Amino acid sequence: MNFDFYLPTEIIFGVGTVDRVGEIGKRFGYRVLIVTGKKSSKENGALNRVIESLKRNGAEEIFIFDQIEPNPTDKSVNLASEIAVKEKVDYIIGLGGGSSLDSAKAVSIVSSNEGYAWDYVNYPEGPRLIPFLNRPVICIPTTAGTGSEVNRYSVISNNIRKEKLVISHSLNYPKVAIIDPSLTISMKKRLTAMTGIDALMHALESLTNKLSNAFAEDLAIRAIQIIKKWLPIALEEPENIKARSYMSYAAMLAGIAIDRKRVALIHGMEHPVSAHYPSVAHGEGLAALSIAITDFNHKGNTQKYALFAELMGYEPKSSMAVKALEDFLEKVGLRISLKDLGVEREKLEKLTEDVYMLSRGLFAINPVEPTLEDIHRLYERAYEGY
Ligand code: NAP
Ligand code: ZN
Repeated sequence: MNFDFYLPTEIIFGVGTVDRVGEIGKRFGYRVLIVTGKKSSKENGALNRVIESLKRNGAEEIFIFDQIEPNPTDKSVNLASEIAVKEKVDYIIGLGGGSSLDSAKAVSIVSSNEGYAWDYVNYPEGPRLIPFLNRPVICIPTTAGTGSEVNRYSVISNNIRKEKLVISHSLNYPKVAIIDPSLTISMKKRLTAMTGIDALMHALESLTNKLSNAFAEDLAIRAIQIIKKWLPIALEEPENIKARSYMSYAAMLAGIAIDRKRVALIHGMEHPVSAHYPSVAHGEGLAALSIAITDFNHKGNTQKYALFAELMGYEPKSSMAVKALEDFLEKVGLRISLKDLGVEREKLEKLTEDVYMLSRGLFAINPVEPTLEDIHRLYERAYEGY
């Protein structure tokens, strides 16, 4: 057995913990920038609770950047970074779904080093610039999916280049993750399902890819068990705080698992989809691609896919992983195709090319190393939905 583990993020987990942000934040200073989305954190009261807590604890200046959109862009990261620099903020709070957290983390890097957000993303050849400074970040997730609050990734889109790439650096870990499951109660059914499936895909892909890390695999296994049991309950009973707590916990576990073991082809093929179609949510794209890719992948790691099938309540055979996933997606209302999501058939060629241009670093760790023909065929299957 072998593994390595590193997580410089303090985790504070529990209902009501959002109200502690001011007490925690004052360790880092008194001038703070909150990076959040356009609506939900205002509507569900999370933003107000953060502001109140900061004020109670003596924050001097609170700046708010509330323009983060799903599939966040380098443009908004650059704009928020300008505020951080101009106002000399001491630290940054990311409040919202993965898009707000990823952006807050990226703002920390961009506002503390030269250049712009796109200089720090990882092309297969590496990023153009390496950061050497950052500002402290506190992440407060309001979805239960990405695990961004506990990992070193920021997934950023460039709408001009139509590329979605990842900043991945040890300076990109949040200093503190405040995970308050009650903030996820306001998620509607489809958002709950999409984000839960994102966490499940993190667990499945980190469990089955070719990297070796026994500790991360245990986290992934536990995440799968929890999501199988509690996601359907969270969907049926949105105010069930036990179900919401387990989902926040599973997303966190899976977020740490991918930090150590990375993802694989399902994520590699999803990123070009939401880069070309920013209206497609990450979790929906993953759902549409996951069956075809699991059917392709399971032969490359029969033992782990058999384990996945078993954890999902099926016969422990690797081919049953496909059936297990199909049934689960059906159950949570996400048995969907790329066609359903508005992807155009004539784009599949370009998407295939982009997987090679932008995500080929994942090919070697995918359970089965794909060729470009494989990828095109998988996009075709996912397009038709079988
Ligand atoms: P999101 O894109 O952050 O948010 C999706 C939508 O949900 C937004 O419209 C948002 O509203 C709304 N929302 C958020 N919290 C809510 C709540 N509690 N109640 C009601 N509505 C709420 O969704 P996400 O799935 O969490 O994040 C997806 C992004 O994270 C993608 O860009 C993906 O690529 C990335 N990602 C990152 C990692 C990582 O490891 N860092 C892993 C997986 C995915 P507002 O816009 O009004 O806030
Ligand atoms: Zn993901």
